[in-house]
Amino acid sequence: LGRLFGPITQLSGMQELFQTVVVSFSRVFELLDLKPLIQERPDAVKLDKDVAPDIEFENVSFRYPTADEVSLASLEHLKAKRERGEVTPDVLRDVSFHVQAGTLTALVGPSGAGKSTITHLVSRLYDPNSGTVRVGGHDLRDLTFDSIREAVGVVSQDAYLFHDTIRENLLYARPTATEDELIEACKGAQIWDLIESLPLGLDTVTGDRGYRMSGGEKQRLAIARLLLKEPRIVVLDEATAHLDSESEAAVQRALKTALRSRTSLVIAHRLSTIREADQILVIDGGGVRERGTHDELMAKGGLYAELYHTQFADPRINEAKPEREDEL
Ligand code: ATP
Repeated sequence: LGRLFGPITQLSGMQELFQTVVVSFSRVFELLDLKPLIQERPDAVKLDKDVAPDIEFENVSFRYPTADEVSLASLEHLKAKRERGEVTPDVLRDVSFHVQAGTLTALVGPSGAGKSTITHLVSRLYDPNSGTVRVGGHDLRDLTFDSIREAVGVVSQDAYLFHDTIRENLLYARPTATEDELIEACKGAQIWDLIESLPLGLDTVTGDRGYRMSGGEKQRLAIARLLLKEPRIVVLDEATAHLDSESEAAVQRALKTALRSRTSLVIAHRLSTIREADQILVIDGGGVRERGTHDELMAKGGLYAELYHTQFADPRINEAKPEREDEL
């Protein structure tokens, strides 16, 4: 009997393994069955390539999907939860605004207000739960994924660099770019002087294990990518990190080139950007609380004026002064 003990415990171990495998398989089938949260319509159309489109939010409400919702097996469970009125709260509630083609709209507001969520909907990372997001007059849900990807260029706070050469990092934005086009984009993004000064120039390996770019340099490289991609809509999350004055002024100059004649939605942290904006939307609690230009909102003395004093008037954030006023 003693000799049987080993094999028996092994068998019971196998049963455990078998159960795990079966459960894993059923998870795999469940995942294969899953429909993506956003889908391209079979009759989806392409966005006109030649003009900068406008952006319109009409009565948009949105809440992030829960883990339950992305699992098909739990749809019944979710339905029951909905029937009991247990849903996640709306992150955006009845948001409406219009960004005219070729203009810059700054989104400002406290942390967690919903600013990034608005930008996620413009790139169609998610669909609204109600209401409509329109680009160039089209409901985003009627456009092909490719034309949205082509039209919208995103620069986030922390630009991701591949562990590869600067050249490859740039070609990722436009694989067919010529040497001259790469240099032109780097000049526009105020990063060419730095690249030219490196012994290997564009062939310098960057990323965590290569030449480590500073925050300001990474941002300018991201702007160079944007210039190569030539999107007609720019979604930009301005960095909150304090850059040194020189880097800051260079980033501002680069942005001026990058945003020219594009439709821009900027999560703004800098006074220079909000002063430049054609329109400022003050987002709070998932809604648009105030809208107007800097002067109009300051005169109103509401939430914007409060934010201005606590956030934007901070000389440490806005210390970078341009050499000339017209550079901003
Ligand atoms: P910040 O200025 O801090 O970046 P924000 O105004 O951009 O804030 P959002 O990031 O849009 O705010 O977040 C709005 C709300 O949505 C927050 O309550 C946040 O916790 C929630 N949220 C953001 N992303 C997700 C997500 N992927 N899943 C679930 N909830 C999320």
